[in-house]
Amino acid sequence: MNALLILVMGRIAGVTAAETRQRLLRAAADVFAERGYDGTRVADIAAAAGVSNGALYAHFASKADLLAGALRAHGRNLLADMFAADPEQPVVELLLLVGRSLARRRDARGYLIVEALVAARRDEDVARPMREYIGERADWLAELIRLAQAGGELDPALSPDAVAHFCLLLAMGSALVPPDLHAIGEEDWAALLTRVAGALTRTDTTAQRGINAVKVHIDPECCQGHGRCYDLAPGLFGDDEEGYGQVLGDGVVPPGLADQARRAVANCPERAIDLLEET
Ligand code: SF4
Repeated sequence: MNALLILVMGRIAGVTAAETRQRLLRAAADVFAERGYDGTRVADIAAAAGVSNGALYAHFASKADLLAGALRAHGRNLLADMFAADPEQPVVELLLLVGRSLARRRDARGYLIVEALVAARRDEDVARPMREYIGERADWLAELIRLAQAGGELDPALSPDAVAHFCLLLAMGSALVPPDLHAIGEEDWAALLTRVAGALTRTDTTAQRGINAVKVHIDPECCQGHGRCYDLAPGLFGDDEEGYGQVLGDGVVPPGLADQARRAVANCPERAIDLLEET
């Protein structure tokens, strides 16, 4: 902390109230993730942010408020980040990309939610703001699911709230059981998610056309490992150790990923990918 910064009436000279608040939230996220909720004193956060305890209480009423604020500001929310970066990307594709990352998550931002969930079990002061926080996340996710249903990506018969809840449980469960506790093969995990996505997607006209399943297949004789398939259709393709394309799982294309499959077929420079219709 720069010694020349002078605390003036609970604020740091030359720093706006909003900046002080941001600084406190950043410090809270770091300290909670490192020491846990119970092991953190409000004074630790104030010191890490370089402000007085009085300045801290001018912004946050309690340690529990700081925890909820730190989660909103710095908790891991990859899905929201990716959606903000590219709102045009199909929702099923986003869900699959985020879902695949869950099997390998081990970042400090993810530990914050663990601390908050554990603290909420023991402390009603934490449980209250956590209920609000989880409710906000679930509502946002349910809106995203509604968007996907309106766009024909997901089965409109499904409850958006139930799908949102399922996604939240997966995300939070992966924070509680990181890969150092239990690892799962990434390809196996991706194949399972693709299958789950297939079950959530809208039934299309394939059934009416007497087609049981549309599958992708890579001809290993032709594949040269350009990687377009798994870049363009990460829900359907992965790569082997040498970068050659591999079909995930049994290759069945969920209706919501039909566009991905067509894009991969059209962009494979070796024409190594086939779309097979099984009747
Ligand atoms: S795009 Fe075609 S050539 Fe490239 S890795 Fe995929 S299947 Fe192989």
